[in-house]
Amino acid sequence: SSPQRDFFADKFVNSGGKIPLGLKTKGLRIVVTGGAGFVGSHLVDRLMARGDSVIVVDNFFTGRKENVMHHFGNPRFEMIRHDVVEPLLLEVDQIYHLACPASPGSHYLLLESLILVYKTNVVGTLNMLGLAKRIGARFLLTSTSEVYGDPLQHPQVETYWGNVNPIGVRSCYDEGKRTAETLTMDYHRGAGVEVRIARIFNTYGPRMCIDDGRVVSNFVAQALRKEPLTVYGDGKQTRSFQYVSDLVEGLMRLMEGEHVGPFNLGNPGEFTMLELAQVVQETIDPNAKIEFRPNTEDDPHKRKPDITKAKDLLGWEPKVPLRKGLPLMVSDFRQRVFGDQKEDGA
Ligand code: NAD
Ligand code: UDP
Ligand code: UDP
Repeated sequence: SSPQRDFFADKFVNSGGKIPLGLKTKGLRIVVTGGAGFVGSHLVDRLMARGDSVIVVDNFFTGRKENVMHHFGNPRFEMIRHDVVEPLLLEVDQIYHLACPASPGSHYLLLESLILVYKTNVVGTLNMLGLAKRIGARFLLTSTSEVYGDPLQHPQVETYWGNVNPIGVRSCYDEGKRTAETLTMDYHRGAGVEVRIARIFNTYGPRMCIDDGRVVSNFVAQALRKEPLTVYGDGKQTRSFQYVSDLVEGLMRLMEGEHVGPFNLGNPGEFTMLELAQVVQETIDPNAKIEFRPNTEDDPHKRKPDITKAKDLLGWEPKVPLRKGLPLMVSDFRQRVFGDQKEDGA
């Protein structure tokens, strides 16, 4: 049998035979918190295809049932509406902890959302680590490139400690994730929990929330709606955009590998926001106009992952460049944008 199968067989024996009723005994039992969201739902697809039993835990704050509905009725799939800020009792082999609204855009402008994001990052992560400790599950945290803040080192290496404002408008997100990393390492060192940490750089693809304010989803939706692309600031700030299938591959390799991390998972292809707007024009509408808007506070000037560590230790690197990946999300967006318009009575 393949080394991968041996790994699963081994894991399963090591799980102490805690098999919940109603789930098949083949493959792993895996919880994906935030599994109804953009990244989570793509991860769930891959795990289901591999033959695992998957439990999605999500409170639908930014996620949608539609993202995982195609698994309803499959006996290996379960969905629980649950806020990870509350304790959770389950028996599984692995926990992919993704629950957290991913955009510093629209949701964060509401005071109650800021606190909710922070609580999700801190109390939610604490609960999932407590769960991992009790049941002996392996735990993977999806942290973020935002832990580097407005970085003074470029590109960013995992050993860089970052440049983060602790009292700014996006602190609930970046400081929240930094605390989540701290908790993860403390449960590893202090309680022997097997942990993995991924630092995810800007990721895009089908099923991205259309209106959560992230730049790729904004530009694509705007181009489809024949609205001007809103470039914040002078548009010279940079990001490095990763297609979602590359990220999911990286997350699974990290979970199954032997290294704690943290690992940068991102595509090193770096673009200014004006260049991104240009790629969107080329892909969707060459006549799309550009409109400049004031930038948000504490916006990082540049961001690009150094992925040497993931290449060396996980044998992973992204395969899909921006110009290949962007067209892959257009039909999904077209469908949802036109659906929206119908609902609006247009
Ligand atoms: P998303 O908003 O689409 O998904 C997050 C999911 O978590 C949603 O389904 C949401 O309903 C759920 N959720 C939020 N708070 C919750 C709570 N308290 N309890 C239960 N469920 C909750 O975002 P995404 O892009 O899929 O991001 C997934 C993870 O990856 C997040 O942790 C995010 O911080 C991280 N990440 C994403 C990116 C990116 O570019 N997409 C970059 C860096 C890090
Ligand atoms: N927890 C959970 N599910 C479990 C075990 C723990 O949600 O199966 C939560 C628990 O409610 C606590 C957190 O995880 O708030 C941390 O648990 P831990 O046992 O590490 O700490 P303690 O409960 O001893 O403070
Ligand atoms: N941005 C933009 N237009 C938009 C939305 C965002 O120019 O409609 C910019 C934003 O100011 C930032 C970059 O795009 O410089 C990436 O923003 P996003 O919220 O997607 O991700 P993050 O800031 O978390 O990297």
